[in-house]
Amino acid sequence: SISEEKEELIANNDGEPQSEISHILSEYILDRSQYEKVSSLLLDEMEHGLSKEHNVSAAVKMFPTYVRSLPDGSERGDFLALDLGGTNFRVLAITLNGLKVEMKNKIYPIAPEIMTGKATQLFDHIASCIDNFMAENGLSGQKLPLGFTFSFPCKQEGLAVGRLVRWTKGFKCEGVEGEDVVTMLHEAIKRKGLGVECVALINDTVGCLMSCAFHDHNTQVGVILGTGTNACYMEHLDRVGTWDDDTEEPKQVIINTEWGAFGDNGCLDFIRTKVDRDIDATSLNPGKQLYEKMISGMYMGEIVRMIAVECAEKGLLFNGQVTPELAQRERFYTKFVSEIEEDNNEEEGYPKVRQVLDELGLVNVTTEDCRILKHICSVVSTRAAYLASTELTVAVDGSLYRFHPHFHDLMFCMRLSEDGSGKGAALVAAVANRLRSRSAQ
Ligand code: BGC
Ligand code: MG
Repeated sequence: SISEEKEELIANNDGEPQSEISHILSEYILDRSQYEKVSSLLLDEMEHGLSKEHNVSAAVKMFPTYVRSLPDGSERGDFLALDLGGTNFRVLAITLNGLKVEMKNKIYPIAPEIMTGKATQLFDHIASCIDNFMAENGLSGQKLPLGFTFSFPCKQEGLAVGRLVRWTKGFKCEGVEGEDVVTMLHEAIKRKGLGVECVALINDTVGCLMSCAFHDHNTQVGVILGTGTNACYMEHLDRVGTWDDDTEEPKQVIINTEWGAFGDNGCLDFIRTKVDRDIDATSLNPGKQLYEKMISGMYMGEIVRMIAVECAEKGLLFNGQVTPELAQRERFYTKFVSEIEEDNNEEEGYPKVRQVLDELGLVNVTTEDCRILKHICSVVSTRAAYLASTELTVAVDGSLYRFHPHFHDLMFCMRLSEDGSGKGAALVAAVANRLRSRSAQ
């Protein structure tokens, strides 16, 4: 009948590309109450992690780092640092002299076979890089203290003792989980015949916090949004149920939250999508780091790629084309997301978006394709940013704050902590070294 035909038309109209895309993306657009729930769940999980009783079963581990004070500018000396676990592995030489900091560094590639190979191969490779770096910088033979920035969850037993709980991100090296990584590093250093001693093991978040606090003593929180994500902060000892060291002063310690593991007990399942589950299932660490997988750089491009493929397969994007490149896992780099979102040049048909699509073998795309892809990127990155900020919220209220147009921007300061993994490691090493030489006297 005519009315049935009409109904079908309406349905078809409803199912036009735009709204079908909106439907696909709707799962990624969370409302305020959902974000508030995430935030309060994370707070609960952090409390669990701090409690002696619940820590064993907590997903968010809240590891005490043994770093008890922020730098005060008196740090001096020459140090080496290692930065492992971010985009690049680096060796650094740092000279601290009051507020003057000199740094040299070199990136050393780590072959994928090493990242997923045997422990001794990894640590021997690291020792060779230290050896090469020292030779190139005229440091051979020197007995330099070293700070090791190792950006993986470690249960620390001291400033220079920490057992890897489990690998995250792209690493899966056999024989390291459960072991003290400083011992493994020292063994490799010995095999190489180097005179270097690791005096501090630090997480990159701690390096980030330390290096920022060096310039601004009010810094209390360090956050990494990189290949992975994590945060640390200075906590009062009487709130740390798991603290069992007997040195009481100062009454504070930096806690490495390891918030990337938030959700590993299922508490985020109410917001995770089919794509989130798929990315997790095919990762090197299924069931782990579920919050990290919704936020960080290692996964963001892949989330966008999978949504784009779904849209293309449904004929809503790229005229239905799925090129081999677009179909390939992890081929849509997270830097593409930034490049695409940066392009506001609609008039010229989004030239930068086209450039990215060109790299993926997608030619003959329309301006509408570019607009849709940009929209997908922004939905995915906005979700990541909101999720990551849930616990960075500071409770403020009051009429002045609420009604003044600039108060908010003036009060809160997000400072880009530049090269915290290097400088921060040297700062912690400097303190450790000072304590060490004091106790040796
Ligand atoms: C690790 C953290 C690290 C973060 C950022 C996570 O995968 O578990 O230790 O701080 O990545 O690099
Ligand atoms: Mg880094």
